[in-house]
Amino acid sequence: MVTDWSFSVERVGGTPVTKFVYAFSEGNKDLRELLGGKGANLAEMNNIGLPVPPGFTITTEACRAYLDSGSQPAGLAEEIATHLDALESAMGRKLGEPGDPLLVSVRSGAAFSMPGMMETVLNVGLNDASVDGLSRQAGGNDRFAWDSYRRLIQMFGKTVCEVPGDEFEHALDAAKQAKGTDNDLDLDADDLRGLVDGYKKIFAKHTGREFPQDPKEQLDLAIRAVFESWNADRAVLYRRQERIPADLGTAVNVVAMVFGNLGSDSGTGVAFTRDPASGAQGVYGDYLANAQGEDVVAGIRNTVPLQELERLDKASYDDLMRIMATLEEHYKDLCDIEFTIERGKLWMLQTRVGKRTAAAAFIIAGQLVDEGVIDLDEALHRVNGAQLAQLMFPRFDLSAEPDQLAKGIGASPGAAVGKAVFDAQTAKELAADGDDVILVRRETNPDDLPGMIAAQGILTSRGGKTSHAAVVARGMGKTCVCGADSLDVDVRGRRFTVDGQTVEQGDVISVDGTTGKIYLGEVPVQPSEVVRYFEGTLDPDQTDDALVKAVHRIMSHADAKRRLAVRANSDTGTDSARARRFGAQGIGLCRTEHMFLGDRRELVERLILAQTAQEREAALADLLPLQRADFVDIFREMDGLPVTIRLIDPPLHEFLPSLEELAVHVAVAHERGEDAGRDEKLLAAVRRMHEENPMLGLRGVRLGLVIPGLFAMQVRAIVEAAVQRARDGGTPRPEIMVPLVGAVQELETVRAEAERIIADVVADGGVEVLIGTMIEVPRAALTSGQIAEAAQFFSFGTNDLTQMAWGFSRDDVEGAFFWRYLELGIFGISPFESIDRDGVGRLIRIAVDEGRAARPDLKLGVCGEHGGDPDSVHFFHEVGLDYVSCSPFRVPIARLEAGRAAVETQGSDSR
Ligand code: PEP
Ligand code: MG
Repeated sequence: MVTDWSFSVERVGGTPVTKFVYAFSEGNKDLRELLGGKGANLAEMNNIGLPVPPGFTITTEACRAYLDSGSQPAGLAEEIATHLDALESAMGRKLGEPGDPLLVSVRSGAAFSMPGMMETVLNVGLNDASVDGLSRQAGGNDRFAWDSYRRLIQMFGKTVCEVPGDEFEHALDAAKQAKGTDNDLDLDADDLRGLVDGYKKIFAKHTGREFPQDPKEQLDLAIRAVFESWNADRAVLYRRQERIPADLGTAVNVVAMVFGNLGSDSGTGVAFTRDPASGAQGVYGDYLANAQGEDVVAGIRNTVPLQELERLDKASYDDLMRIMATLEEHYKDLCDIEFTIERGKLWMLQTRVGKRTAAAAFIIAGQLVDEGVIDLDEALHRVNGAQLAQLMFPRFDLSAEPDQLAKGIGASPGAAVGKAVFDAQTAKELAADGDDVILVRRETNPDDLPGMIAAQGILTSRGGKTSHAAVVARGMGKTCVCGADSLDVDVRGRRFTVDGQTVEQGDVISVDGTTGKIYLGEVPVQPSEVVRYFEGTLDPDQTDDALVKAVHRIMSHADAKRRLAVRANSDTGTDSARARRFGAQGIGLCRTEHMFLGDRRELVERLILAQTAQEREAALADLLPLQRADFVDIFREMDGLPVTIRLIDPPLHEFLPSLEELAVHVAVAHERGEDAGRDEKLLAAVRRMHEENPMLGLRGVRLGLVIPGLFAMQVRAIVEAAVQRARDGGTPRPEIMVPLVGAVQELETVRAEAERIIADVVADGGVEVLIGTMIEVPRAALTSGQIAEAAQFFSFGTNDLTQMAWGFSRDDVEGAFFWRYLELGIFGISPFESIDRDGVGRLIRIAVDEGRAARPDLKLGVCGEHGGDPDSVHFFHEVGLDYVSCSPFRVPIARLEAGRAAVETQGSDSR
């Protein structure tokens, strides 16, 4: 990640000095990378006049410096001391002063929210002397003071000195038991004083030293502990799962303590400024009187709905409502907040733009436009393709409240129902018999691949979002829940147990790859309303569905704004029709080899086995009308729009039976003294064509150059189909694309023959046919200036370009070892999923620049998988392509992201 840190460097006497500590008055919400989300927003609230307890933020840069060197960077201690002085003056109290102590909280806060992953220490500044001062501050409330002290020793011991937390818990339980209660609140000041003694002993036993009494030492150690918590196991794991870069570091917020546990006129709560699920305006939150924030999280007592606060403390409630309105107006978005009321005085402890569901993101964006808070450009900016993709997956109908078995990590979205199976072989067998299955494993490995392919969904009890199961399932677009660690999977016994319930092989389960929930039995699956809208069966003007209306509105704006056209990859009339309904503006890739499968395989075998020119020509002549009919269908569905048809690409041996199978057949026949007949010929052909690296072998343009008549037959079929459509009143716009070109001479040879055929078939000039090439071999990108002389368009085949740029076998590596690469952070996401801007992207930039320099009207598109990947679409917009092409289902996602890319670069667009 490239970050500009220059704003944190000040010059003192000509020498640059890094500023490590910011008072709240010095920060603002845009400094989240430096101050963390919490610190940046505390500063922002402070600056707009909201009641924030005084404090300061130590930067993420200080954290990184500390973690790199293992010690505090030079100057940090002095800066902290200066800011602590200022804090003490503002509060009129000194940290830990016996008579009237200032106490502070020390909280982590990274640029990305990592809930509960890092550390917090409250009540820093308490010691054997200041505990009495705190009691006096609290009006002689000894119980409160000693409770605060025991909390400090507990949190400090656990967080800073790694004392096992359960020892403190046991001591607390023992104190309650001795008192005959199970409620913390029944412990009085003397009980808590005794507990503090016990806690100190635990502390000394584990650390070999007394609990530190010096408040400044407490503060110093707490800050170091928060820095170090960035690298705690759970934080590291969380970052990997959420793909948060490992080198950002956390900021540390040192804030004057305010207490919600000072009596019934105090309390703490959380709130949203509007409903995060629906976007509805209203009062949404929870409140707990006489408590600290940690009590809410720990669930010690039940919270009450926030509306109750109006009755309990009208003045604070009114203040809070005013503040929430101010926050929405200021952030122009839904915010979530944490607050504390200390003896009738409201304090804001945190705010951030609130997380929301995918549906709420669209609905809220639409509402804010209606309310005049934001414009449509901003609304478009606030939603994204990943959210839209979520809304397009079928979902479970949970109205019958199915029996939830467990919850894991939603690793690949979708709703899958099937019989539980525990090994790949059984998955394959049952699926072959027509059963839907869910493959359940502790974790998967490459041997499970056939079972994963056969299954409707995958469920594992171990591993996170970057585990083998998760990566492979996402690659296949298959529903996957992983890391459901409450499941005890017994592969040998073919069962799993969870909470005393056992699911045997063959029992039906339902798995939700979006929420991670696992249900017993068959949960009905609901189609997505958003897909119905895209398909044209749900009219946005005739429905009350707020989501569909919001999606329609934002999609219309994206379409109005985007510069990139969006086409679809499709090989059939049916898929093309669907793609057009989804908004495709043509076909960017029709893979003609898919038309050679099924019952046409035999014709292809005839072609491969042909011994003479006549035999070959006869086979091609039989294929021609079939191909022509395919193209007529597609031209009809895409009438008036460009259709790029790629000449046959894959190695021919893919159309033949496997070498092993044939060899066995032939050997068995020989053994029996029988004639292996056709199999013998096939075997010879397969042997002849066998390649060690078929992906780098006889495929694409190479095939067209080696097998006379093959490309010519395809070109003729395309052009004849176009002429036929034109005669029938249609407007076909064929574009012939040559695959795997690496040298302009290859293209020139194919082109010369194609032009002869076009001139022959389109004698009256009624149809215009373009001829272009894929750019998918690095050499093509590097010689694109030459190639553009012979091509009217380029389409980037980023699947092969990625394969060949990295030297990764595209069919093998994702399942084989990418999980390890992801774990090690070599890349954050598979380069087959999202474009590698630095490497593959560089090849694309070269080809765009040199191709356009040679031929200014060169049409440029992309048809690899990346054409439908949100982040990659932004890259293709940036480099100035004319269109992206992707699978029909991703067309709406690409439309949305192309619109977002356009509004985000508005003004800076050179094209
Ligand atoms: C590509 O390589 O990106 C491409 C679109 O072609 P295919 O996936 O068919 O090899
Ligand atoms: Mg390719």
